[in-house]
Amino acid sequence: MRHLNIMELSFYPYHLNIFSELKNMGKGRYRNLRTVFILFIIIITGGCKNTGKITEPGVILTFDDRNMLNWEKQIPLFAKYNAHVTFFVDRFDELTPEQLQALKRLKEAGHTIGCHGLRHRKAAEFCEKFSVEDYIVAEIEPAIKVMEEKGFPPMCFAYPNSNHSALTDSVLLNYFRYLRSGGIRIDDSSSNKEKAFVPVNDIRGKGRLDGVSFHPKSKNDDLVLQVKDAIKRLKENNELLVLYAHDIRNLGEEGPKNYITVEALDEILSYAHKYQIKFYSYEELP
Ligand SMILES: [Zn+2]
Repeated sequence: MRHLNIMELSFYPYHLNIFSELKNMGKGRYRNLRTVFILFIIIITGGCKNTGKITEPGVILTFDDRNMLNWEKQIPLFAKYNAHVTFFVDRFDELTPEQLQALKRLKEAGHTIGCHGLRHRKAAEFCEKFSVEDYIVAEIEPAIKVMEEKGFPPMCFAYPNSNHSALTDSVLLNYFRYLRSGGIRIDDSSSNKEKAFVPVNDIRGKGRLDGVSFHPKSKNDDLVLQVKDAIKRLKENNELLVLYAHDIRNLGEEGPKNYITVEALDEILSYAHKYQIKFYSYEELP
């Protein structure tokens, strides 16, 4: 929730009314009330230090699908670098108690749990085939409902297969503060790559963020080197970069096709930490 700052408060007419009423009172009483009022403002603005107003450059690292049992294992690694990340989960109604417990621990560790649809349906394709109303009824409203019931009300949504349209964006932004799509390559020589970099001051109200697929397998992987270069750029330009991955595991371990190795994750977290680049979860965005 966004809190009003003191400048915005001063524009509210009811506050002006309070001032004029106070002026009509006795001088001593006015002074006392004024003190109380100022203290009140200090307390409410002081309590709103974490308004989500981001001023520092950072990486918005995200993970999709249902790999929570492996994500959970990396809670200490994220904590080591004070990194907060976001996990987008589909088929929330089918999660086992063990999987829900893993998500609870991730949330308690400061990470964000977002929505990835009820059945991982492709948004734009579904809307073309049926209608946007059908899409919301089949894929979004029941997903939000079950997430709320399980204690994870979502404020963000990642498009399955990055399949989206202007229509799906505009409708889904009525349900979520931010959307995430993807399909950007960090080594793209065209201007398309620029979509992945968002100036810190432009993030508020951005709506949809487009991420770079990030599945490096070692600390010397080309992708790690490219993201290290991008991290230097973030610092210079005061920007944010969105990355997305899926599973997190070691080489040789069984699991879904798309994964980042623990070694590569550690490398990028430690490099960013060294350059004082933060890792923000979606809930930390303004
Ligand atoms: Zn997915």
